[in-house]
Amino acid sequence: MPMDDRLVMTGMRPEDEELDASLRPRHLREYIGQEKVKNSLQIYISAALKRHDALDHILLYGPPGLGKTTLACIVAAEMGQNIRVTSGPAIERPGDLASILTNLNQGDILFIDEIHRLSRAVEEVLYPAMEDYALDIMIGKGPTARSMRLDLPKFTLVGATTRAGRLSAPLRDRFGIVFRLEMYSPEELAKIVARSAGILGMPFDQGGIMEIARRSRGTPRIANRLLKRVRDFAQVRADGHITEEVAKESLNMQDVDLLGLDRIDRAVLNAMIEKFGGGPVGLDTLAAVTGEDAVTIEDVYEPYLMQLGFIMRTPRGRVCTPAAYQHLGKTPPAASPASADDGVEQTQLF
Ligand code: ADP
Repeated sequence: MPMDDRLVMTGMRPEDEELDASLRPRHLREYIGQEKVKNSLQIYISAALKRHDALDHILLYGPPGLGKTTLACIVAAEMGQNIRVTSGPAIERPGDLASILTNLNQGDILFIDEIHRLSRAVEEVLYPAMEDYALDIMIGKGPTARSMRLDLPKFTLVGATTRAGRLSAPLRDRFGIVFRLEMYSPEELAKIVARSAGILGMPFDQGGIMEIARRSRGTPRIANRLLKRVRDFAQVRADGHITEEVAKESLNMQDVDLLGLDRIDRAVLNAMIEKFGGGPVGLDTLAAVTGEDAVTIEDVYEPYLMQLGFIMRTPRGRVCTPAAYQHLGKTPPAASPASADDGVEQTQLF
């Protein structure tokens, strides 16, 4: 199954755009979960507003679909400023960034998604812009070329990336505020699903909402997507009401299991167990046997499988834990590689 067909995939799908517009919280008080981030942000925003100053540059990192873009838009709304949204791959040349920067107004928020994908040359334009609100441009060519400095309005850059480690050190160091977004608990996701169901006018009961929340891989984008699928099912097969039974039946039919794993997750785990005795197995080998891209495995599948405690990273590669065997209905080996005392460590995700 190609990546784009995955219901539980964390990246954007075309159907999400319509959903996103109506379901995206607009203010901090509507943004569910991420309490630490919200509390700090609230303080920084109030302080900046009091000083009539722009906010410091903010770096948001965490797996896709956790609410980075939403948070950037909320920052703009709370500051009462406009936001300009772009992404690393969209800014191809230094000139592209220069034109974005010179079109900003005082206090504007510039959101760059996938900021780790900026080229080196573009990054170099960003350094003086972030540090001194200045743009250095070269005029002329050859021996007569000279550099000229243009002043830029004071703006706030909000950068988003799936992993902070992917950013070059000079870029990372220029962010005054760095937040890591965490996966959401099922209870938080249930609040998000209930809010979305309310906005979309869908009748539901708590059991139905919880069932969707539990299978949403800690990710609001997936929660909203599953809700939409369950709604379709409820309208065709039931009376439109989202109950636990309806949610279960609908999601089982879509091959999203009790913990939100789909066929590809199970294929990754099965490959580790059946072909490599549970590991350790290197990321590239895993990519080759499952036919998935190594970056996709690392960014999309692994964070949730690690969160569940199904996979661990060790110095020698990835290892499946006994919990993963059990979830797949398999018997873990007597001395499972994950519990062997061979220097295995649960490393940080980011
Ligand atoms: P990212 O930029 O991290 O990929 P988005 O900001 O696009 O994620 O979030 C995806 C969708 O999930 C949003 O459109 C929004 O509807 C929903 N969402 C994200 N975070 C929250 C939250 N904290 N509370 C409610 N809904 C959220």
